[in-house]
This record gives sequence, structure tokens and C-alpha cells, in this order.
Amino acid sequence: MKALVKTGRAPGAELLDVDIPTIGATDVLIRVKAAAICGTDIHIYHWTPFAQARLKPPLIFGHEACGEVVAVGDQVTTPKLGDLVAVETHIPCGQCYQCQTGAQHICERMAIIGVHTDGAFAEYARIPAVCCWRLSKDTPADLGAILEPLGVAVHGALSGEINGKSVAVFGCGPIGLFCVGVVAALGATKVFALEPNPTRLAMAHRLAPQARLLNPAREDVVRAILEATEGRGVDVSLEVSGSTEATKMAFQVLRRGGRVSLIGMPSAPVELDTPEDIIYKEATVLGCTGRIMWQTWWQMQYLLESGRFDPMPVITHRFPLADFSSALELAAGGETGKVLLYP
Ligand SMILES: [Zn+2]
Ligand SMILES: [Zn+2]
Repeated sequence: MKALVKTGRAPGAELLDVDIPTIGATDVLIRVKAAAICGTDIHIYHWTPFAQARLKPPLIFGHEACGEVVAVGDQVTTPKLGDLVAVETHIPCGQCYQCQTGAQHICERMAIIGVHTDGAFAEYARIPAVCCWRLSKDTPADLGAILEPLGVAVHGALSGEINGKSVAVFGCGPIGLFCVGVVAALGATKVFALEPNPTRLAMAHRLAPQARLLNPAREDVVRAILEATEGRGVDVSLEVSGSTEATKMAFQVLRRGGRVSLIGMPSAPVELDTPEDIIYKEATVLGCTGRIMWQTWWQMQYLLESGRFDPMPVITHRFPLADFSSALELAAGGETGKVLLYP
């Protein structure tokens, strides 16, 4: 099969002919129909310190995927042959304290598909059955491929109340765009979308026309949000950008008693004014990672079935797997929504 392989400890990747993976008793083999590029994949391709610390090449990367089950291991009862599935990236150990107490998504021995095990930028992928979310047969493969990142947004947004709340979303990359759409769909009454890139701000507008768009490169966004909330600040800040400046602002625009959910990965430590930003405000500060297995997936399914939110406009580019370098460079450029690859 064709597979995109990180062959060495250096920037780049190679499209190679490799054997179709063999599966174990608790795995399934999927024929990949669509796979989406994640920030992690860009780290791997560019061989950043983030990737250097985690990856042991050679490795097939890619983890946001949708495919058809074409083989199942001896002990697998679901999914079944022919099922269409979306991939949950996190492989829980099933044994640790968190796994045994309903928090598999923060497993102590978490392995990540496409980072620690071969991934889905390939014609076929070996996926543990425990990481498969079954989809109805008529689900578009493109939608299946973006459920994993959409789940990050849903988990972050629903880590507290949204309905009837004022919400500021910091960063409108793909996950931030999902957040803007999700909180608007779930009844946030005042939504602020913050993003320095005008193309992405325009995308936020298309997903949630009621959102107020704020560009931190052009205006004092903290002041704008405080003015729009009688000086109080917002009920909820969702920090999705990973920018240290934005993370500080997420606290500065928060009302007393509000909630900050931190979703984006800061590239450097963030200095907060702990008394002002957290203690006197009695701020609730939550870290949000991945998706709750499987609560977040159910929430997503019901949200999509409700017709209140269509995440598909977040997909802006599609490439055959052979054009991986153009696709990855474009995705790295920061002007796109989700970029999809087709093996
Ligand atoms: Zn991802
Ligand atoms: Zn575990």
C-alpha cells in the first residue's frame, strides 16, 4: 500500500510502498477513505522539538481519519466488517486509575495513533477496536475525518455551561472555528471570535454570523469585550490559539466567577497575575485535552443530528495523498481551515 512515512529524524516525509499492516486480536484494519491534517502532523513533518521529543521514526503519521472496516481481529465484536468508522486518536491502557474511573482520555499510559503507533496517512491502517466510533453508512467520509478535532472543540466548550452565556473564543484555526460554531449552536447568547488573520475571521463569520469578530492585531480586544459586557467581562473564555498573549487576555476579559477552558497548546510558559486573574475572580480554570470517551462523541453525534451546526465549511482544501507536501505546507501557512488527504 501507499503510505506517508516519517523516515528519518529530519524535516520531511516520504510516500512509500509498504506492507498492509497486520492486525492483532483486538484490532481492526480500515481502508482509509479520508484523513485530515492536524497541527501535530505539521510538527512531525517539520520535525519540531515537539515531534523530536515524541516520535521514533520510521512511522506512518496521520490520525484524524475515517475508513471502512475491512478486517477484524479474533476478539473484536464491534465494529464489524463493512462498518464505517471514525478514529479516536487516543489509545487508553484500560488498566490505570483514570481508565478505570471513567477518564480514559487522560490515561497514564496513553498511546497516540500516528505518533506512537503507525497512523492513517495510508491506504490502510491498523486501529485498535477500542478507538473506533461507528458511523452511519451515509456519513460523508470527510465529516468522519474531522470528528476527532471537532471533538476537541466540543469537549472544551462543554467542559462547563454554554447555554445563555457570553463566550470569547481566542484563536480561529480549525479547532477555534469549530468552537465558535459549537457555542453559537448550543445557545451562547454573546459570542466573540478573536483572531489576527482576516481570512480565518471571515470563516468564523460564516460559521456563526452572530459572532462579533475581533482582530487583536488591529484593536484593543480586551477593551472591546469589556465595553460590550458592561465592564464585567465574559462568562466563558475558550483559549484555543496557544498564544501566550491570548492566554493572558482570556483571563483579563473574564468576569468574576467565570470559566476559562485552556485548549490550545502554549509554545512557552504563560505568566498570569494569579491574584487578579484567578483568585479574586474565583475563576474556574480547566485544562481540556482530547475527547471524553465516549461522552464527547455522543454529544457530537447528537449535535450533528440536530442540524444546528454544520462543521463541513471548516474543510477548505482537499488533496490526494501524493500531494502531501503541498497539503502540509498549505496547512502550515495558517490561512486554511481543515486540509484533507485522500489515499
Ligand atoms: Zn489531531
Ligand atoms: Zn490508562
